[in-house]
Amino acid sequence: MAAPPASMPPTPVLRARIDAARASAAALGLDTFLVSSLVHLRYLFGLTATAGLAVLHGEGATLVIDQRYRRAAEEAGEGQPGLRVCLVPVGDSYEATAARVVGELAPAAVGIEADHLSVARAAALRRQPAWPAVETRDTTGLVERLRLVKDPWELSRLREAGGRLAEVAACILPKVSMGCTERQVAWEVEQALHAAGFDKPAFDTIVAAGPESARPHHRASTRTIDDGDLVVVDFGGVLDGYAVDMTRTVAVGAVAAEPRRWRRAVFAAQQAAISAAAPGVLPSVVDAAARNSLAAAGLAEYFVHRPGHGIGLSVHEKPTLGSRGDHDGPLAPGMVFTVEPGVYVPGVGGVRIEDDVVVTTTGVECLTGAPQPFESHEL
Ligand code: ZN
Ligand code: ZN
Repeated sequence: MAAPPASMPPTPVLRARIDAARASAAALGLDTFLVSSLVHLRYLFGLTATAGLAVLHGEGATLVIDQRYRRAAEEAGEGQPGLRVCLVPVGDSYEATAARVVGELAPAAVGIEADHLSVARAAALRRQPAWPAVETRDTTGLVERLRLVKDPWELSRLREAGGRLAEVAACILPKVSMGCTERQVAWEVEQALHAAGFDKPAFDTIVAAGPESARPHHRASTRTIDDGDLVVVDFGGVLDGYAVDMTRTVAVGAVAAEPRRWRRAVFAAQQAAISAAAPGVLPSVVDAAARNSLAAAGLAEYFVHRPGHGIGLSVHEKPTLGSRGDHDGPLAPGMVFTVEPGVYVPGVGGVRIEDDVVVTTTGVECLTGAPQPFESHEL
């Protein structure tokens, strides 16, 4: 058996994930579970594909994949007892092939991923003659809950990615200066991500200068950075499938006193949230720490989004942070999320500072280097 590449989770890790997903389905009374999320194919099988399905069942798992991914699927199956690869015949459909796989299992009840299987595709599956006449039940969050706590292999990838992203920040932020356009900065960021060995950017880089910085999800435009601008630079990279995400707000030239005060307040709010985060603490408590800190500075009304989001194979995943983010329970060691308070004063400008953290046994560890507003000596 060939050893998996370093960018792939070790085979026993994948096996444990598949077993855990099967056990979660069984706990819901589902002896068969259809995986349709491509992110979940990556999580459970280490398979990177643009199409594919998997059927988890009592005996093991069957990957349904087309000819393009034959070799990748076989590699995913190497060393995995009970993992079968079923190729979609040329000219046939995924739905027909998956229906045959499910039908042959003669299941008692089939679970589907309601968040990932489209209505049209679910109907197409049910139309297949081979699809069994048994209960098909919607599930939500089954694999997502397994992804909530990262295993040591995932943490090693996220630590590596976080360290590289901090290096990208150190390389790029000093270049944010008067006369360059937002788009030029974004392009510099994306080149630096590539040079740092990231697979790809995690999302379209946000560079928001001057009044545009008041728009949390502004995209980089042809606007030229001017004297006195605050420039929000929000960027991320994907390494071995895992995303990291970071924001710094750069003060260019002679920035007025009030925006400088916002920056100090946002940094203090981020520190308050980071200090509050620990195992056993509810996400709403972390949210309140950031919000109360900004309220003390008279800026609460300008903090218009959640204080962060879970991150991993997806840029946004569990745990949910925010005042209503407690449905996944308290924070636990191995959970990874961003801490990114912001202040956005419409028409004037804004500040956001974002770092990624992992919950440890005592608090959190920052994955993206020491949290700091850039040019902290100016504060
Ligand atoms: Zn971000
Ligand atoms: Zn983020």
